[in-house]
Amino acid sequence: MKDNRDIATPSKTKEILQKHGFTFKKSLGQNFLTEPNILRKIVETGGIDDQTNVIEVGPGIGALTEHLARKAHQVLAFEIDDRLIPVLADTLRDYPNVTVRHQDVLQANLPQVTQEVFTEDLPIKVVANLPYYITTPIMMHFLESELAVAEMVVMMQKEVADRISAAPGTKAYGSLTIAVQYYMEAKLAFIVPKTVFVPQPNVDSAILKLTRRPQPAVTVTNEKAFFKLTKAAFQLRRKTLWNNLIHSYGKDEATKTWLTNSLEQAAIDPKRRGETLSLEEFGRLSNAMEALK
Ligand code: SAM
Repeated sequence: MKDNRDIATPSKTKEILQKHGFTFKKSLGQNFLTEPNILRKIVETGGIDDQTNVIEVGPGIGALTEHLARKAHQVLAFEIDDRLIPVLADTLRDYPNVTVRHQDVLQANLPQVTQEVFTEDLPIKVVANLPYYITTPIMMHFLESELAVAEMVVMMQKEVADRISAAPGTKAYGSLTIAVQYYMEAKLAFIVPKTVFVPQPNVDSAILKLTRRPQPAVTVTNEKAFFKLTKAAFQLRRKTLWNNLIHSYGKDEATKTWLTNSLEQAAIDPKRRGETLSLEEFGRLSNAMEALK
């Protein structure tokens, strides 16, 4: 059953766009959702209730924001496009628990802004239909910030969702998988057809559910060195781990000896390919490399 007040119906969206003379900016990844059932499913997947504070990235005209505001304690939404600020003030006027922040989310000091906006110390979840041109930077901005995000329910290109939720040994598994799964458990929740957006994107979309691990997936002695290693291991996709390591760390004898000893200590065959190593194995190798440096 459709709620007539929903922003996300095709007719209401059209009406809002016309009223404000709004035209889409492709460069800002503007593809708005026009299907209330998908929005309900997103909010349900996030388990949003009045004991949750939500951060949304890119509210657009408020389609998802409205659904979040109905369930959450408070919603903080970052929108970069100045033309949408008066539109949101209009469409979300009945939701006093929403704060729209006119800011590039990548420039936001997340712990500081949330402290300013959220009146109660409740678990924070990120729920968003992400602008696809900066999906990865946004994900990393949240994961690497000091803000303790409990869960993220985010829509992105299906291909990126596949990469983030991939298992070792699969084609999609790579340094992005590790960068995210180090902090969060990742599960592909559901696929979203192109037809529910205006304008329609060129690619399929998926909702990814990420739940923060109590501690990182592996214990590493040096996080920077661990992420450097995982990037290095995937540099040349069809080459062995050994070839990738000497490509990144150096081919001189001292480096080769260090790498050989580290691989031996971590009990990892240098002839394997990077994409077959689990997070645990990468952690072991990184710790051995640090210990033998
Ligand atoms: N949430 C709306 C929906 O589902 O219909 C709109 C989603 S649309 C895919 C992405 C939104 O992110 C747009 O409103 C766009 O202007 C905004 N955006 C793009 N880059 C941004 C950035 N760096 N910081 C904050 N918002 C951004």
